[in-house]
Amino acid sequence: MSNAPSALNRARDWIDRLGRQNVIGSGLTPAAAGDVVINPATGKALGEAAASGATEVDEAVAAARAAQGAWAGLAARERGRLVAECGRQITGQAEDLAVLLALETGKALRTECRAELRVAADLLAFYGGLGSELKGETLPFDPQMLSVTTREPLGVVAAILPWNVPLVLMMLKIAPALVAGNTVVVKAAEEAPFATLAGGLIMAGILPAGVINVLAGDGPACGAALTRHRHVAKITFTGSQSVGEIVYRAGADRIIPVSLELGGKSPMLVFADADLDRAVEGAIAGMRFTRQGQSCTASSRIYVHRDLHDDFIARLRARLDRLVIGDPLDEATDIGTVISPTQKAVIDRYVALGEATPGTTAIRCGRMPEAAHLDTSLFMQPVLFTGLPADSPLVREEIFGPVAAIIPWDDYETVLAAANDSDYGLAASVWTRDLRTALDATRRLDAGYVQVNQNLTIQPNLSYGGFGKSGLGKEASLEAMLEHFTRKKTIVFAMT
Ligand code: NAD
Repeated sequence: MSNAPSALNRARDWIDRLGRQNVIGSGLTPAAAGDVVINPATGKALGEAAASGATEVDEAVAAARAAQGAWAGLAARERGRLVAECGRQITGQAEDLAVLLALETGKALRTECRAELRVAADLLAFYGGLGSELKGETLPFDPQMLSVTTREPLGVVAAILPWNVPLVLMMLKIAPALVAGNTVVVKAAEEAPFATLAGGLIMAGILPAGVINVLAGDGPACGAALTRHRHVAKITFTGSQSVGEIVYRAGADRIIPVSLELGGKSPMLVFADADLDRAVEGAIAGMRFTRQGQSCTASSRIYVHRDLHDDFIARLRARLDRLVIGDPLDEATDIGTVISPTQKAVIDRYVALGEATPGTTAIRCGRMPEAAHLDTSLFMQPVLFTGLPADSPLVREEIFGPVAAIIPWDDYETVLAAANDSDYGLAASVWTRDLRTALDATRRLDAGYVQVNQNLTIQPNLSYGGFGKSGLGKEASLEAMLEHFTRKKTIVFAMT
């Protein structure tokens, strides 16, 4: 079990405190209804979260709207200072929040949840320092006039989150929105709302009342009401492509800007001269096997040069066999659970389809846990598939589970075409010791985030966002704050 049983008790206290509540205005506000949240590792109820609908959405948007003028009226650096302070306060409670995340997402505390807290706090610190960058320009136009541009906030920003890395994705959206002078209404994912609410409540204790509001609720009732609300000036969404399309249409109906971070089917290209052990470690990191592959950037198409292919699989399998699948709170655990029975059924269908495809081999790695206190139905061994045809749904579609296709290649142009033959374009990685090969491949890969000899996750200051059906817009950077959370005004003074 966790080395910090008191953190577990405090995480449970959080759940009690947040039961059926939203963060609206300066603190917790009860919702009219609730929904049970399940601990995926035990199958038991963790608590009840708010099941917000149009009424709660109205309350939260009204609070955000009332606060926006005064918030935008603060000096940008002061807003940044307060946002950075939120990061410090969250760091102070990081262990409790990490345990809370592990309880509701089933992700392993040691390998995933603690790291998520570090990145979430880092994003607040990063954006907290960018207030002074909200600059305009002077435009050379006519010597008798002074022409300038200024950057203004948009107003109330709606941020809709998925369950896989909720705190990182929350900060990715709200930190730049807040520093730019917007106020926010966050909709937490229904499967894992508590860490998002807790993070929001900590921030609400530092920011002026109404600047941050967090709602728990489902998509059709809460999310849809938020995207259609007449006082929401911008929607920033991370989630599936199908819901992204609905959200995009809701923005179009009101002609408001929408940023979308959607799915992916990211290729990893391993060349014959690659450092094999490094590439194997990169595959484990890139596929996010310790997160059960539940990542939009998961390197789920691994193209390995035929010279290395068999060796690569043998080493990857041996490494995966050593990862411990088990209780998310146990310090020995590397891999926790999949989020829900619904998600598990989707993954199982893909695995069954792959196994039924002639010529394929499915390699299951690691061992299922046996502890009596766990419900093992949402635990899963990583699965490596070989022999899949290029048109297999397992090669073309996002699975969002620990399932990777390993595909041998001989010819560079052919493998590049295969890597780019996707509706998605979120991330890609290239594994080679040759600089010219790396340069050529990085230039020609159709993906928004391309790495060489590594597979980092989202990092502050590295602009992040996909091409094609992976979405619209960038996150994690100064550009993201300026382009997606401000509007530009041109002002011309006649000097005569
Ligand atoms: P989802 O699309 O089912 O849900 C995402 C959010 O949208 C949830 O909060 C949900 O309640 C809400 N929602 C659902 N219906 C809605 C509606 N009609 N109107 C408004 N909101 C609605 O996604 P999920 O299952 O929570 O997360 C998994 C998906 O997220 C995967 O497809 C994954 O690729 C994607 N994802 C993308 C990134 C990225 O940065 N590109 C990061 C993480 C996850």
